Amino acid sequence: MKTIISLGAGVQSSALVIMSIKGLIKSDYAIFSDTGSEKLETYQYLINILIPYAQENNYKIVIIGYDSEYNLKKLPLLEWYKQKQRIPYRINRSCTDNWKIQPIRRYLKKYEPDGAKIILGFSYDEIHRMKDSNKPKYPNIYPLIDKKISRKDLLNLFKEWNFPIPVKSGCWACPFNKKQDWIDLRNNYPKLLNQAIELENIAEERQLNDGKTFYTLASFEVRLRDFKKMKTKNLMDFTEDAFCGSNCMT
Ligand code: SF4
Repeated sequence: MKTIISLGAGVQSSALVIMSIKGLIKSDYAIFSDTGSEKLETYQYLINILIPYAQENNYKIVIIGYDSEYNLKKLPLLEWYKQKQRIPYRINRSCTDNWKIQPIRRYLKKYEPDGAKIILGFSYDEIHRMKDSNKPKYPNIYPLIDKKISRKDLLNLFKEWNFPIPVKSGCWACPFNKKQDWIDLRNNYPKLLNQAIELENIAEERQLNDGKTFYTLASFEVRLRDFKKMKTKNLMDFTEDAFCGSNCMT
């Protein structure tokens, strides 16, 4: 049975690919399911760092495109939500399911029909996130937790390996974004923040028209259009309740 890394191209799963190439853990290849709405830095890390390193070492990274046969939505995640006049919600995480979990499962069904072990990049400090797979043919395994390697340990390893440290993986407008993620988006990518505001406005209108409760895209319950005008220090008045960060596949 093959062992496959579920790659999100954040700190933990990128480290797993590097560790595998260095012979520190065992895996056969890695799969990255592209939502089409990843952060620019994530694509840059993948294209400029991980893929060249993998190619130099004959290690395979499979990229599943959002428009491939494995993704039934066929659109970048945030574009699909805009067309549906909705935002991704934290409650059911159907975004993770539709753009990450199910495309990878469809790929595995085709290429690993007898089953495979799936490495999830949770570090020792995320032990609470461990759970068994609901597909016995594709059990989850957690080598970073087995080896008691924390995120802090990984940051030191990146330095030791002379590799740049990847940003936290995830979509640029994710409901699990923390305050700092939105502040970074506002400072570094104001056009993307405007797109997130547009998405939130469209979704609000639709939800209110349908008589439903509207939830903001930001986890700290501030309308992004208000957030855009606020001074950074005033944002600290709002509590933050995101509980697990946006790295849905690490
Ligand atoms: S990063 Fe956020 S928006 Fe993107 S799939 Fe994961 S939970 Fe959904």
